[in-house]
Amino acid sequence: MNYVSTRNTDIKVSASQAITKGISSEGGLFVPEALPAVSVAEIEKLASLDYIGRAKSILSLFLTDFTESELDSCVRGAYETGFSSEKVAPIVKLDESTYILELFKGPTCAFKDMALQILPRLLTVASGKAAKGTEIVILVATSGDTGKAALEGFKDVENTRILVFYPSDGVSPMQKLQMCTQEGKNVSVCAIEGNFDDAQSGVKKIFTDKAIAEKLAANGMAFSSANSINWGRLVPQIVYYFSAYCDLVAGGEIKAGDAINVCVPTGNFGNILAAYYAKEMGLPVKKLICASNSNSVLTEFLTTGVYDKNREFFTTISPSMDILISSNLERLLYSMSGSENVREWMKSLAESGRYEVDAATFEAIKADFAAGSCDDNETKATIAEVFKSKDYLCDTHTAVGVKVYNDYRTATGDKTPAVIASTASPFKFSAAVLEAVEGKNDALDEFEMVERLADVTKKSCPEQLANLRDKAVRFDGCCSKDSMEQVVFDMLGI
Ligand SMILES: *Cc1c(COP(=O)(O)O)cnc(C)c1O
Repeated sequence: MNYVSTRNTDIKVSASQAITKGISSEGGLFVPEALPAVSVAEIEKLASLDYIGRAKSILSLFLTDFTESELDSCVRGAYETGFSSEKVAPIVKLDESTYILELFKGPTCAFKDMALQILPRLLTVASGKAAKGTEIVILVATSGDTGKAALEGFKDVENTRILVFYPSDGVSPMQKLQMCTQEGKNVSVCAIEGNFDDAQSGVKKIFTDKAIAEKLAANGMAFSSANSINWGRLVPQIVYYFSAYCDLVAGGEIKAGDAINVCVPTGNFGNILAAYYAKEMGLPVKKLICASNSNSVLTEFLTTGVYDKNREFFTTISPSMDILISSNLERLLYSMSGSENVREWMKSLAESGRYEVDAATFEAIKADFAAGSCDDNETKATIAEVFKSKDYLCDTHTAVGVKVYNDYRTATGDKTPAVIASTASPFKFSAAVLEAVEGKNDALDEFEMVERLADVTKKSCPEQLANLRDKAVRFDGCCSKDSMEQVVFDMLGI
């Protein structure tokens, strides 16, 4: 299978090249030339496998230049021991027809682990094929969870270096602590003055700068990306939608072939795009419900056809979704409308921060997607309500998904069984979750809050978060937007 750029389909690369390069040289994103199809009969067969078996089946359809044994070792390495649930991504039944898909059982307690535990392994194999002998430099812009998950995935992986930039005021204390205490010889972390979009634009700029690329090449290095623009990040995410469906079939909750709805709390549009790809491949999904917090640029786009990032930016209690430029949306636009339109809209986005899709594209989007948003108060009320009525503790991001799904169901009467993606452990966002559950906010430190949350809810905090208390801070630097390039050179020693 070949991959093309969303902005120029004459650019064709292999899976290994797409994963090694991360982004196409003209700024487009790599997408499969055509999506593989999976029939209901094949889904039934997948249902009898475990997560590892399902992952190998789905990934082999996309990574056609990986051998079976290469894929086997990537998949086993990622999912065999690092997750606290043997199901890897288990499903919890919330009520008659609503299911929570828990994607946070990995080493950093956020759904980013689903992809970032396997990406370094895919990248090592891919670069061995596509760029032998080169040291891979991973640059990450993070709204919190990606940074930690990427650091954990890449730490001490041979022939790789990783540098993470995070917005100094845009991540939770727990997220910050997770990153600043990161261990490993090949890792660096730096805060930047600005928000996530500043960090992301800065990284994108460094990434596509020819002079910087030449300087790296002269030192035997090349950039790659662990952000969700990398195909190697996206493709592992397709797996868990198939796996969730298989679990519902295997558990007798639905019959193979029955439709489900999928609701995803969304930021960069990666997670929900993976669900869209699963649907396009043949997974019986009726509606994809996109949930945003107050930074509701995607809700507006999916319901009006106008994307406009010229709006107030809110720092919310679901910081991993505080995003105004959702990079992966470009891949959806490509699927629905082709590269010529994508080029035009992305140019308009770069120049004016706005674009409007044509009527046919908008109709196609509305057929597949519903969307909604909720603010911080509604998020907290949802956490409290779900805990009280169902004894289920959601984190702030997941709560946005639950609230938007409930609104969708009330507004449409659509009672199709629904899977809501749960993207983080509630203990990663203890302050907001505790305030939601207790209805008050005592100024406690992060770990007092974690303990109290565990006490009040009778749930236990994942060990890897509780243990952070005793770790030393290794990285406390903060730079301006304009000095990111220098920070990169310093870290690489070039
Ligand atoms: C990254 C993240 C999201 C947003 O996912 P996208 O793929 O960027 O849409 C939601 N919740 C949490 C906890 C995250 O870490």
